[in-house]
Amino acid sequence: MNIILLGAPGAGKGSQAAKIAEAYDIPHISTGDIFRKNIQQQTPLGKLAKTFIDAGNLVPDDVVIDLVKSRLAEDDCKKGYILDGFPRTIPQALSLEKVAEIDVVLNVDVPFGIIEERLTGRRVCICGATYHVSTLGGSDVCAKCGQKLFIRDDDKIETVKARLKVYQEQTEPLIDYYTGKGLVKTIKGRDTIDETFAEVKKVLDNL
Ligand code: ADP
Ligand code: ZN
Repeated sequence: MNIILLGAPGAGKGSQAAKIAEAYDIPHISTGDIFRKNIQQQTPLGKLAKTFIDAGNLVPDDVVIDLVKSRLAEDDCKKGYILDGFPRTIPQALSLEKVAEIDVVLNVDVPFGIIEERLTGRRVCICGATYHVSTLGGSDVCAKCGQKLFIRDDDKIETVKARLKVYQEQTEPLIDYYTGKGLVKTIKGRDTIDETFAEVKKVLDNL
């Protein structure tokens, strides 16, 4: 099964993608996670991406498209995959179409008020795990791997505002685009991770 997850920053795409990957045994491809790893390791790709990400902007299409194409060509993607954070623009969607057959687009829908609060309270681990301060009970280490949690530079309030604007202008049009292809299933993402995943599972098991 080849799945795209759409949704605003903070809609919980990463959390749902991780659960889908585990339940259906397919790779979770998060362009954001790939960029963050490259930034931490100070690779050329990381240095380039950082300038865009810290400003709340998107990384240029050609860079992201090349990255995803080579990832999709790896062996483990033969059994299916879940794309989290890609495509994020219409040109990215058009390029993806040339190399992939998408089965379903899950649109995780969360009201904007909730999004701001989620993003500014978010803590992440370099292993890809995500938490919210309200559930950490004061801890600052990852429950999965023990490394220290950090606040993403792009989760600062000014950057969050810029990211939401970019989302509305460049990513939201993808909902109409994929609706036109009959691929979109909308999931209410305002409840807990597990409640949302129960909805996701219902949709996927019915395909
Ligand atoms: P979120 O969904 O919380 O905004 P991600 O972890 O998916 O965050 O991405 C973080 C940042 O990485 C984005 O704000 C953007 O700058 C960059 N990025 C990730 N995926 C893409 C993409 N497909 N196209 C362009 N930029 C991207
Ligand atoms: Zn971790």
